[in-house]
Parts: sequence; structure tokens; C-alpha cells
Amino acid sequence: MSQSRNQSPQVLLERLIDLLRNFDSELQGGELRRKVQALIPVREALSELGKSLIPTEIASSARQRILHYFLKYPFTIIPREELAVIAAIDQWARRVRELRVEYGWAIISGTTAKHMKQEGDFPLENTDVGKMRPDDYILLSNEQDRDAAYRWRIAKEIRNKQASVRDKILEYMRANVGQLVTGEELRYVAKDKTEWARRVRELRTENGWPIVTKNSGRPDLPIGTYILEQDRQSPEHDRHIPDPVRREVLRRDDYQCRHCDWTHALWNRSDPRHLELHHVESHESGGENTEANLITLCTVCHDVWHSKEQEWQDRFYDWLSQG
Ligand SMILES: [Zn+2]
Ligand SMILES: [Zn+2]
Repeated sequence: MSQSRNQSPQVLLERLIDLLRNFDSELQGGELRRKVQALIPVREALSELGKSLIPTEIASSARQRILHYFLKYPFTIIPREELAVIAAIDQWARRVRELRVEYGWAIISGTTAKHMKQEGDFPLENTDVGKMRPDDYILLSNEQDRDAAYRWRIAKEIRNKQASVRDKILEYMRANVGQLVTGEELRYVAKDKTEWARRVRELRTENGWPIVTKNSGRPDLPIGTYILEQDRQSPEHDRHIPDPVRREVLRRDDYQCRHCDWTHALWNRSDPRHLELHHVESHESGGENTEANLITLCTVCHDVWHSKEQEWQDRFYDWLSQG
């Protein structure tokens, strides 16, 4: 193998053509086993040719070649056949996994992308995720996440616990408050159960956990990632808001607190607030989950609001309606 390392694609191509010409005579000859054996060097030569397309100075191992290829075509569906050609080894899928788990590259599989898409959480334009097969892939970020290996170890511990998918995902998110985690990690924690993406959405929409994505109120986040913004649930009466409504209200309010103008750009560790939606007319008194009945408040102002007397709250609404 190593003698062909620095051979040019052109030299390898000529060798392959020679081998195929020789195979023509085997084909006429008739003996099955000889034909099969004659194809072995053909396969090897073809594999070497695929490998030679990326020079060894750029990438000298299968893993490096795969990474080089992904980085050259990010945000693009890479079919498994292309990875097999470029890797030139049978175990290429294992190398993809290493790139993700040990090296922190955000490589999403067709399976995970589909699960996210079903929950409206995969807003990659011009990409038909429906066409992806389970082991087709997309690189979703040009940046390596150096904390990924550490998180994957936590994911493994939680995955093996006896608990519901929802509880395991929540435990994992709470172990990573304020940190981006990927859909691949969450699917892994859920032991690959297809319900994982729905459970994440329910934790947000039904249980009031601020687990957000690019498509549920944080357009600044990379596609394919989730973040638990803070370790607290929104008040019971402000839950059960469907994602499309949430998205619209946040967009209308410019992703700002309507009381103090706080935005995510102001986030810092000593003041870790986030944006919540508040019902103007509460659920108990018949208030609906509509854009008109919801406003954006930061968690600090939201807490203040709920601690105040009716009179203060009415004054606040008067102030709001005056714009
Ligand atoms: Zn505020
Ligand atoms: Zn509220």
C-alpha cells in the first residue's frame, strides 16, 4: 500500500486500465475463481485512485481525507458512496463517527436530520433532507467543537440509565446548561429512539424548559444544535405555546424584552437571563396562545411582573399599549 502513496492519479489510472485490459482475457477464459481473483487488484487499484485524489501532503489518513472533503463541501449532502471513494477503506463510517465524537465536527447523519426536520427544526435551505439516506451526511459547521469529546462521555453515561427518553434528554441538557449540543448527541442519549426530537420539542412547549434552536426563537444558533438557556422552567401559565407562534412573537418583538430591551447579545455569565413569552391575558382567564396575546419578556422582567400587584400589571400594559 505504502509504495503507491505518492503516486499521481494519472499513474494509478494507467495501472487500472492495464489491469482491466488483462481482465478481458480472464473473462473469456471461463474459470469463476480466476475471474474473482483477477478483480482483486482492480478493486485495489480503483481504491488507490480514489485515495490519490487528495494529495498526502493535505491529508494522509482516511480520517483526514474525509474531513478535508467535508470541509470543502460544508452544508451539502455528502452521499455515502463519495465518502467510501475518498476514504478508500471499508470502515469509513467509523472514521466519520470519530470525527464527530472525538474531534467535535458537527457531522449530521440523514437519520438525525430527518428526525429534526419532522419537528420543524432543520431549516437548511435548498436541501431536501427527505432524500438523505441514514448514512449520508452533512457538515453543519466549519468550526471544531473542542468540548464535544467531554460531552459525548456524559452522553454515554446518561444513555445507559433506566429512564424515559424525555428524562434522559432533560438530564443531558441540564448537565450542559448554556452549552450548544447537537442533535446527534441527543439521539445518542435517547438510544436512537425516533421520538427523541419530539421529546425535545415537548420539553420546551409543554414543560416550559428553555431548550431552543435556530427555528424556535434563536436564529443566531447554528442549524442542528440545541441549547438549554437556563436551568429553570417557564411559569406553568406561560407554557403550551406552539413553536410557530413562539417564533412569530419573538420575531415581532425583535428578540428583545418588551420591558427593558434585553437581547441575547447582552448575555453574560453573571447575568444569565433569556427571553420568555408571557400571556397578556392569562390562560386561566381564557387567554389564548395567539401572537396578539403574547409578549416577549426577559426572565428578570418576567419574574418582576409576576411578583407585582394587579395595579402595577395594569399600568405596565397601559405603558406597553402606548408603545
Ligand atoms: Zn427585561
Ligand atoms: Zn407570564
